[in-house]
Amino acid sequence: MLILVVNAGSSSLKYQLLNMDDESVLAKGNCDRIGIDGHVSHKTADGRTVDADCTFPTHTEAFQKLVEVLTTGDAAVIKSMDEISAVGHRIVQGAEVFDRPCLVTPEIIDQIDELRELAPVHNHAHALALRACSAVIPATTPQVVVFDTAFHQTMPPKAYMFGLPYEDYEKYHVRKYGFHGTSHRFVSAALAEAMGKDIKELKIVSCHLGNGSSITAVDGGKCVDTSMGFTPLDGLLMGTRCGAIDPSAVTYIADKHGFTPDEMSQYMNKKSGFLGVSGVSSDNRDLTAAAAEGNKRAQLAGDILAYQIQKYIGSYTAAMNGLDAVLFTGGIGENSWEVRENVCKNMEFFGIKIDEELNRQSRGKLIKLSTADSKVEVWIVPTNEELLIARDTLAVISQ
Ligand code: ADP
Repeated sequence: MLILVVNAGSSSLKYQLLNMDDESVLAKGNCDRIGIDGHVSHKTADGRTVDADCTFPTHTEAFQKLVEVLTTGDAAVIKSMDEISAVGHRIVQGAEVFDRPCLVTPEIIDQIDELRELAPVHNHAHALALRACSAVIPATTPQVVVFDTAFHQTMPPKAYMFGLPYEDYEKYHVRKYGFHGTSHRFVSAALAEAMGKDIKELKIVSCHLGNGSSITAVDGGKCVDTSMGFTPLDGLLMGTRCGAIDPSAVTYIADKHGFTPDEMSQYMNKKSGFLGVSGVSSDNRDLTAAAAEGNKRAQLAGDILAYQIQKYIGSYTAAMNGLDAVLFTGGIGENSWEVRENVCKNMEFFGIKIDEELNRQSRGKLIKLSTADSKVEVWIVPTNEELLIARDTLAVISQ
């Protein structure tokens, strides 16, 4: 059974075609630069590729190209779209409307589009892609939407409410939603399996560290708190995002620079984080290299990140009244031994002790890093959001 997983942004359409019989990836790619010019890159499991400039005025042309490369030419993997059992779409913001995956209908697409105010960069693009997909794929192929926010809908009000006038929660839906939920759900379940424990008995701090980073407290398989908030800007210092800061600094800086709200948002989303603090790069690899060469601001950015992660581990241990395991995932969490080492240093009070040599040698694979006498287990758990979206899609169409 074949499932196509789509992750659409405002200018890109990333996809993976999975064979759910063995959960293998048959092909993946990206129809990029939508609304600018257009480019397709496509790769099959056996190494055939397409890499070409195209014309994508809208998501519809990008979807047509996606169908074309999957079904025709040297890198085709299927003969017709009829061979695909369903399409699963990643949706960033489901707000309080969606707490689980569901089948796509025209009404569901409108609801996703209506949530665009809460995720201006993402939700409208998702709606455009959903409409384009409906126009291009066979009408009989079901589509399913899987929400980044859904896993976090189990947070109690004391975790998701802000200390703002309650009316603005009621009127404008201002609250913490959390993101990366599909990843946190996938890795926490994979960790429980690797530990040979029932997830209902585990208290896990899940650290998804990438260009965007978030930490989630998973108690008994349910999210009880998470570091991203109303938008993915909250929480940790990220590649170009500032993370949590004193809200008064926002109004003060906007005033000093004469920024409009949009300009201030750009400043916090695109010019801050690793890039803003270090002045070197938004990429963790560049930052680590610069820090090793003695760049003080690059070292500072790394120190801020590790310190913030330690504080989240501490506060979420308090929130869950216990801690069984800490997991690292995402591009940084899976690959950067330096970040993991800096986080796990001086955490003996929390019962965290890792094998430093093993940590230095490990990247990108499921592995336990903690020592036998560590009270808390520490693991690398590679994430796979596309696979979970495909599994969810299969589950919804099988209901
Ligand atoms: P996104 O949030 O866009 O999905 P990723 O999860 O791919 O991002 O993470 C990107 C980050 O992972 C970058 O900061 C990059 O430097 C870091 N990263 C990727 N590979 C490595 C590596 N081998 N060592 C250290 N950091 C890495």
